[in-house]
Amino acid sequence: MIDGCGRTIDHLRLSLTDHCNLACRYCAPEDTPVLGGMIEANFAFEIVRWLSLQHGIRHIRLTGGEPLLHPRLIPLIERLAGLDTLHEVTLTTNGQMLAQKAAALRDAGLNRINISLDTLDPRRFAHLTRGGDLARTLAGIEAAVAVGLTPVRINVVVQRGLNDHELNDIAQWSLARGCTVRFLEVMPIGPLAHVIDEHLVSAAEMLAQLNERFWLRPIPQSLGQPAVDYAAVGVGLRGVIGIIAPTTRPFCSRCRRLRVTSRGQLVTCLHDDRYYDLSRWWNGQTLDVEGADATLSSAINEKPASGAFVQLLCMQALGG
Ligand code: SAM
Repeated sequence: MIDGCGRTIDHLRLSLTDHCNLACRYCAPEDTPVLGGMIEANFAFEIVRWLSLQHGIRHIRLTGGEPLLHPRLIPLIERLAGLDTLHEVTLTTNGQMLAQKAAALRDAGLNRINISLDTLDPRRFAHLTRGGDLARTLAGIEAAVAVGLTPVRINVVVQRGLNDHELNDIAQWSLARGCTVRFLEVMPIGPLAHVIDEHLVSAAEMLAQLNERFWLRPIPQSLGQPAVDYAAVGVGLRGVIGIIAPTTRPFCSRCRRLRVTSRGQLVTCLHDDRYYDLSRWWNGQTLDVEGADATLSSAINEKPASGAFVQLLCMQALGG
C-alpha cells in the first residue's frame, strides 16, 4: 500500500480497547475519562485479514488502552497468528496483568512484546500511572522473559523532573534481564499536548546521560524503524538500547503506519484529527470489503506528509 506521499504502509497499530487499568499522566486526561470501548474480536480479525491479504499490511501491534483487558485477546491472537500474510503479531502492555497471561500469549502465537516501564521506584510508579503497582509490572516482565516472548522490549517515556534521572538504572535493570530498552521523547498528543512544555527531554540529552554508563555504537536502522538503536556495553552487561525522538527529530517521511481505534476508526497520523470510520462497513458478521476499500483509499491518499498537531483524542483513545 502506497500513500499519497509515496510512503509504503505495512504496519498497523490496532487498539483493542480504549479502557486502561492505569492512567499515565501523559496518556490519559484526568478530567475527561475515556469511556472504555472494546472492539469486537471478529471485527478486529476481519480488519487485519482484509488489510494484510489485500493491502500488504505485514506487522501488527495490538495496543490500547490496555490490550490485556480485552476478553477475547487470546483467541484473537491465535487467529491472527494463523494468517500467513503477516510477518509478526506483537503487543504493547503496561504489564500489570502480564505475569498471569505471558504463557498463554506465547502459546497463542504472539511473536514479541513491549512493556511500558517509566520508573523503578514504586512510589513514583504509582504517581506517574495514577495508582499502578510497580511489582506487578516487574513480575510481568520477568514472566515474559521466562516464557520466551523475546526479545522483550521495555519502553520508557522520559519526562523531565519525573524520571529523567533514572535512564541508566532502567537500562541496566533491563539489559541485566536480557531485555532491550527504548527511551521515548514525550509527544504532544491531543488534550495532553501541553505535557511537553514542562517534561520534554530531548534524545540528545538522553544520549548524553546514557553515554556516562554505557559504550554505545549505532546499529543500522531497518525500514519503518523509528528508533535509533545502539549496541550497548556496560560493566558486565551488553544489549540494545534505543532512542525514539518523535518530538525533536520527527520521522514522518519514513512513516509506514496506520492505526485503527477500538471504535473501528482508521487514523493515519497521531497528530491529525481525521478519523475514517470502518465500523459502518461491519454488520456484526462480515466486513463490506468494497466499502472498506473506499474508506481506506481516502485515508491513505490524505495521510499527512507531517503532523499538523490538531489531534483531538488522547493517546489512550487513539491506541499508542
Ligand atoms: N497500555 C499499554 C501500555 O501502557 O503500554 C498500551 C497502550 S500505551 C498508549 C502505548 C505506549 O504509548 C506506551 O508505551 C506509552 O508510554 C506511550 N505513550 C502514551 N502517551 C504518550 C505520549 N504523550 N508521548 C509518548 N509516548 C506516549
